[in-house]
Amino acid sequence: MKTIKIVVAGPRGRMGTEAVKLVHETEGYELAAVIDRKHDGQDLKDIGGFGGISAKIYSDIDRCLSEVKADVLIDLTTPEVGMKHTTAALKHGVRPVVGTTGFTDENLAELESLCEEKGLGCIIAPNFAVGAVLMMKFSQMAAKYFPDVEIIEMHHDRKLDAPSGTAVKTAQMIAEVREQKEQGHPDEHETLKGARGANMQGMHIHSVRLPGLVAHQQVMFGADGQTLTLRHDSYNRASFMSGVKLAVDEVMKINVLVYGLENIIE
Ligand code: NAP
Repeated sequence: MKTIKIVVAGPRGRMGTEAVKLVHETEGYELAAVIDRKHDGQDLKDIGGFGGISAKIYSDIDRCLSEVKADVLIDLTTPEVGMKHTTAALKHGVRPVVGTTGFTDENLAELESLCEEKGLGCIIAPNFAVGAVLMMKFSQMAAKYFPDVEIIEMHHDRKLDAPSGTAVKTAQMIAEVREQKEQGHPDEHETLKGARGANMQGMHIHSVRLPGLVAHQQVMFGADGQTLTLRHDSYNRASFMSGVKLAVDEVMKINVLVYGLENIIE
């Protein structure tokens, strides 16, 4: 089996640190370099926090990808930087696996045509937790039979966006199969604004933000005399790494842009 040479962008971040470990520990993967806006020219093993894991640090992606032979770029940074990195990777013939959230529809359209032009695969997944992706798929299955549904997503209190991308994606997947209806009593009114959460195509999404939480979601279905609750909990960033591995392996086989891990999980 050919070794997959991987560059990780954002190695000091919470996700990036786990990704560096994943690449280091996975047979058949090689950490070719890392991209970090600090510590240019140093080695990862000398900056602390990475044990003996060695890789040259570059601050400039173009220089990195010109000097280093790489197959895959894993980006775990911020939307603006992530877009710059993903575009540069494709231009250098490197396949991106992007966990960075917040890409716009315009970003995705631009990357889709760049993938087509270059004949390269790219996987962008706002949620790499395989369990969360299965929860979305199971929710879609259940919604055919249980059109009454509410979504409660719970995250750490440093999260900036609400509702979460996963909650929105879950509601979109449910909407594809659910008979359209407004959740709750037709005459209901809020005595306190926001009590019923956000309304997406008649489904309500409730966002909880508390310290101590990581990323959790509950999808509740109700029918006469029964409820069905599907719940997924990510307790740490390591929970996302099996999905990152799936994406790295898959991106080597495709030559289009894939958005969402659900599209590569059978
Ligand atoms: P984090 O701990 O804040 O790490 C972000 C990393 O990006 C840091 O290393 C940071 O470096 C770097 N960075 C920020 N601005 C930069 C810039 N202008 N140039 C170069 N590097 C820059 O965040 P995280 O929790 O690891 O999350 C990273 C991304 O993954 C976010 O978009 C988050 O929403 C997403 N995420 C995705 C999943 C998934 O399953 N797909 C799960 C969790 C999080 P500095 O320390 O120098 O700022």
